[in-house]
Amino acid sequence: MPNSSPDPAPVPIAVGVSSCLLGERVRYDGGHKHDRSITGCLGRLFRLVPVCPEVGCGLPTPREPMSLEGDPAAPRLVANMSRIDLTDRMLTWCARRVVDLEGENLCGFIFKKGSPSCGLYQVPIHDGGAVRNGAGLFATALTRRFPLMPVEEEGRLSDPGCREEFIQRVLDYRRERL
Ligand code: SF4
Repeated sequence: MPNSSPDPAPVPIAVGVSSCLLGERVRYDGGHKHDRSITGCLGRLFRLVPVCPEVGCGLPTPREPMSLEGDPAAPRLVANMSRIDLTDRMLTWCARRVVDLEGENLCGFIFKKGSPSCGLYQVPIHDGGAVRNGAGLFATALTRRFPLMPVEEEGRLSDPGCREEFIQRVLDYRRERL
């Protein structure tokens, strides 16, 4: 007798996203940065997996803003007013979280621009009197763990050409992993 049970629904492709871009109120000021070009178009195509490194590592919301300082090759994450050094706390959490994310089978990641935790490009690093550019601590940890994974910052995805290119890179990455 032929098997008449329907084919299982395809597993949606998972893409990680900085939580504040999905409208979660996790930012230092208690707000969010909901980006409808992500939750709309990309949210219909992919399963969006929220990640907030600052809340994840146990910091409260709202919280003191923080910045990157020191050697651009190994910057420190420091609270702006209290000068509390949060680097070890964040790096310990990042090391665990990127291992956990292997279980999510992520095929891409969208980061919040400019964040000392999530920024991918041109995050200011204060080094003495100079200001250099680098990446946030979580963005660095994730891209080191998954060097071939397609990654992007939120602002660029409002451009339809960039968004299409990102979607294609995610689909290609997924296909190569099947
Ligand atoms: Fe959290 Fe990253 Fe958004 Fe900051 S930028 S609130 S660390 S998800």
